[in-house]
Amino acid sequence: MDLREFFLTKAYALFHDPPDKMWGLKGHEERAWDMFNKVRRGSPLDGELPEWAREVVKLADRMAASMDRYAFYSGGGEGVKYDKLHNLFNPRLWRALAPPDPGKVAEYVENLGGRVRAAKGPREAYHVLYALFEALWIDEGLGPSLADPRAPTHDVFDHLYATAMVANWLLAGGKPSGYFVTLDVPGVQDFVKAGRKAGDIWAGSWALSMAVWLTVWPFAWEYGPDVLLRPTARLNPYYYAFAAARGLGVEHGVFAKLLSPYVKGESFYDLVNFAVVQPLIGERAQIVLPPYRVEGDKIASWGGAEEVREAVRDRFKRAVECLTHFAKGQRGAGDEYCEDFFKVVEEGRGEGRGGGEVEKIAAWLQKYAELRLPLRVEVVDVGAVYDSIKCPREVAKAIEEALGDGEERCKILFLFDAVLRGGREGTKLVEPQRRRFIPTRGPWFKPGGYDDLNPHFNFPLDPNWRVCSLCGSEPAVVGVRKVAREGREDYNEEDLRRISAEVGIEVSRLKNHLRKVLRPGEYLGPVCLAKRLIYLRAADRELIKFESTEDVAVVKLAESHEQHYAELDRVQECVKVVNYLRTTGGRDLEVIWGNPEAMRRDWDNCFKKFGRLRGVERLVREIFGVEGDVGKAVEEFAGPRLFYAVVRADGDSVGKLLEGHLPVNWYGAVAEVVEGVGAEGREKALEVLRAVEEHMRSFGVPPPVVITPTYRVAVNRAMVLTSLKDLATTEKHRGLLIYAGGDDVVALLPVETALDAAAEYRENYWGEGGFHIVDNYPVPALAAYGRSTAVRFVHLMDLMSEELGKSYHDLEHLAKGGRWDCFEKDSLTITSSRVEAKAVLPFRRPREAVERLKELWLLMALGRLSKNAPHDLDAYEDLKRDLAAYLKAWRYALKRNARELSPETLTRLLCFIEKYGAEAGEGLKEAMKILRRLP
Ligand SMILES: [Zn+2]
Repeated sequence: MDLREFFLTKAYALFHDPPDKMWGLKGHEERAWDMFNKVRRGSPLDGELPEWAREVVKLADRMAASMDRYAFYSGGGEGVKYDKLHNLFNPRLWRALAPPDPGKVAEYVENLGGRVRAAKGPREAYHVLYALFEALWIDEGLGPSLADPRAPTHDVFDHLYATAMVANWLLAGGKPSGYFVTLDVPGVQDFVKAGRKAGDIWAGSWALSMAVWLTVWPFAWEYGPDVLLRPTARLNPYYYAFAAARGLGVEHGVFAKLLSPYVKGESFYDLVNFAVVQPLIGERAQIVLPPYRVEGDKIASWGGAEEVREAVRDRFKRAVECLTHFAKGQRGAGDEYCEDFFKVVEEGRGEGRGGGEVEKIAAWLQKYAELRLPLRVEVVDVGAVYDSIKCPREVAKAIEEALGDGEERCKILFLFDAVLRGGREGTKLVEPQRRRFIPTRGPWFKPGGYDDLNPHFNFPLDPNWRVCSLCGSEPAVVGVRKVAREGREDYNEEDLRRISAEVGIEVSRLKNHLRKVLRPGEYLGPVCLAKRLIYLRAADRELIKFESTEDVAVVKLAESHEQHYAELDRVQECVKVVNYLRTTGGRDLEVIWGNPEAMRRDWDNCFKKFGRLRGVERLVREIFGVEGDVGKAVEEFAGPRLFYAVVRADGDSVGKLLEGHLPVNWYGAVAEVVEGVGAEGREKALEVLRAVEEHMRSFGVPPPVVITPTYRVAVNRAMVLTSLKDLATTEKHRGLLIYAGGDDVVALLPVETALDAAAEYRENYWGEGGFHIVDNYPVPALAAYGRSTAVRFVHLMDLMSEELGKSYHDLEHLAKGGRWDCFEKDSLTITSSRVEAKAVLPFRRPREAVERLKELWLLMALGRLSKNAPHDLDAYEDLKRDLAAYLKAWRYALKRNARELSPETLTRLLCFIEKYGAEAGEGLKEAMKILRRLP
């Protein structure tokens, strides 16, 4: 096999069905062949398709579609007319599909062919085809086609991308062979949350994303992007940004449809360049490798699983080195993938502000920086798994009766499941063949005598070593001692003089610049220093817009005042306030005011004098969606802002979802759909379904779905789309994205928008009625389990790393502990770093909860509802078991505490409690205790 044949086979796997398959089932294979030939003619993928390649694709087709089709239907089905796409994760949700405009399909083929022909080699041509196959289709405004109307739970693109992926394991012919690699970085929670500034947290998360991406990208490049199961390359901006950096011409308009209008910039390049500096790649990746080792134009066989493991480790090591280079402000010469990284993050973004005093300080510190991360790699030999599969007799028999080849088809059906589920669930099919490694980040200390620790590094300022003050787990390599001066923390003079001599900045000017890098008494180890430098480099290139939590807290307020800066400038008392508002990034209230109390006094003086608060009025109306007079609320919202919010949402039971456990009776729902379609041969097909269901019962009740390539490919596409929507939501609400991986999202948001963002994150997960709608294209969303969400309001003076940990705890232990009449988990929790109260509310209909909360918040801010109301309500907690009495008590307490409370408002609140029970009332009450102290 040569390189052209390698990529041509996968290209054919990708294109063995036409994207409009269901709209002309008769002769669809010929139509696909015809389209494929038009697209590849005159390109590096042109020429004869070997006969063995057809065999590979035939088997790959069967394996990709296993559960969903071939296991229980033979070929044919031309006569079946069915045009609803059912959600694979919740088959009772569906969307009607409409046939595509043939003119547009022809245009699509033309356009796609033009791009593939422009590629310079077979590898490049395959990347272009893979990147644009689906994206251009959606971009043309074309809708989905079912892969098979008899099993209408997935579209043809999911089927085709899954086919290209599993083709890797069939390339050698005969029985399946190749490797399945899982890599993950342990301990990421601690790695990411170690930080004092918002920038540290972003940098940790982004460095992690990039380290994982730079590990898998070389495999995607060499073997083709189909080897990436997770993160998927499909519609993944990291993939598109890196492919674009290789000059492949993969631009399309789908990102604009997903990210605009909330993300600045309109072009494809603006959008992928923006997205690639967002942490969108999780700590865990899965790769599907063929039995061949492909490098450049050489194809050889792997020398076994150990060699694969080494290759992955080597890529990870280089990825982390590349990021250390970035922290140090050097280009990572010598490694082509690191070059790609520098192209992506540096080119077309201007030279950076550069120079400057902060840059000089960074240049002095950079020699001490070193990013380190541990890695766990697990390699599964697919051929060995295949050999060890013992097929359940009933399933084999049912398949034999429906289709023939029972034993072989049955093994193919369970192969992917066996590889992925592996030892984790005690499967009865496969012997565990995994070895466990407990990796570390490497030694920080040289061996010494008993109780004698010698760090590997020389501490430049202090002969005694200390532990890093951010993570507490590495020896510090830099730091400046602190002294107390006039009640403030300040730098030790001697240290300042030594730094001044080192970096060549006069002592008098050094302090303010140094503060941007190291504050008094802060000691950083090599890893935390690398993170800090990464964010300084990124901030210098304006890749991130927030550096401090102050920046996040004040962003909405600053926007509301923007058009009044000139007026504010004329007020003597407002000098500091307007400078603070106007700063573009890196606000530090301690530098300006010393402490929050002084800030508040100064702020009050300014606005008393200034008197005009039209900006704040507009802001209050915007937040609460109200018109007219907002009276006293304006004072409440005038500032300063001493809180920001950590908002965290996480798909419930994602581990279960990935392993095929769904909360719905999936087999029953699919049987209903199959009956509804009414295709010939369905009785035998349903027999197979029943046999599989019986077998899967041994994994739990309700029995899980068999993990098929199509199932996981569908999960990953849904996750990519959710993460992009979460990114757009964060931008829309002026937040800083800490991580968006599809199932989970973490962001820092201003207090004003935190609740709305939380509701939107929840909505993003299930899409519209269970589908993500991209233009004219519905993509099934993960509408099986809910998405619990935690909003934690944090005071600027509280330790961010601790608060991030607490928000994680809130989510895991409060929100996921929510129990309501019709569902569990899927809850919203609200907490604060300064108030004891903890609210838990039902969140399946997120707007319902958030509208009630905002209504109460506004009433308290307007002074129409006393801030003592929640304390009065505390007296009725004992009535929780008697809902009618509890509601009566609420009615009484609210009326007693309200000055103007419309009957409609009262009804809405009481109906909400009536619907979800007294616990929901307790949730509202606890939330009031937090909201009355905000913003
Ligand atoms: Zn550290």
